[in-house]
Amino acid sequence: MSKRRKCGYFLITVLLILVIAWLAWPAKGVPVLAYHQVSYDDDLYSVSPDDFERQMDYLASQGYSAVTLEDLTQYMAGSGQLPDKPVVITFDDGYQDNYTTALPIMEKYGMRSTVFVITDKIGQPGYLSWQEIRDMRRRGTDIGSHTVGHVVMSDISLDECQKEVTVSKQLLEQGTGQLVKYLAYPYGKFDIAMFDILRQAGYKGACAGITGLNKLGENPFRIKRIGIPRSRAGLLEFKLRLFRASVYSKIGR
Ligand SMILES: [Zn+2]
Repeated sequence: MSKRRKCGYFLITVLLILVIAWLAWPAKGVPVLAYHQVSYDDDLYSVSPDDFERQMDYLASQGYSAVTLEDLTQYMAGSGQLPDKPVVITFDDGYQDNYTTALPIMEKYGMRSTVFVITDKIGQPGYLSWQEIRDMRRRGTDIGSHTVGHVVMSDISLDECQKEVTVSKQLLEQGTGQLVKYLAYPYGKFDIAMFDILRQAGYKGACAGITGLNKLGENPFRIKRIGIPRSRAGLLEFKLRLFRASVYSKIGR
């Protein structure tokens, strides 16, 4: 082998080692997981109870502590301390299995979550009832708004937007006796004009449909999440989703 070729191989090896080390180095930022259903339903957004338990077990075994969205937004604003490996667990839509299936599994692993409820769906078949919402709240689950009617907020007028966020907030606050401070945009879609509407309505932050981790100084009304759909490749897929978010975070997405 010529000296020049040897030198080339050496440089490529060094470069590869540097890239692997950069990827393996933990990314700064807090992951927020976005679940929907936890059931055996054959649906893209339904994680099986077995997979969900494996995921909670993995997070606990890796030393993750479930923190609240309030802990997260305080950290993003530069105040408040987070544990070493924080994670926020969220559920969209307010499915009944969040109470019957997911909550007991989370309690087993010392995890907690925020459930974003569509207020029009409360008490409908397959969705949480007021009694279940109140019991979840009592057991440490935060209740957030997912609007009244699960509308695409970027498609409606700002007046309608204001109604969706204020009416759902008031209903949930009356029903739970607790302040509702966070919202998840239906379908993850939002417009920057909504930040002021939400702020004026008394919200402290909102979850968007952007993949990544959440860092100090970022806008609390565009909280990034990691969608966790039905698993096709077991726990490896879950780990890869966390890994992808950390890569996005490193490249500044
Ligand atoms: Zn939704």
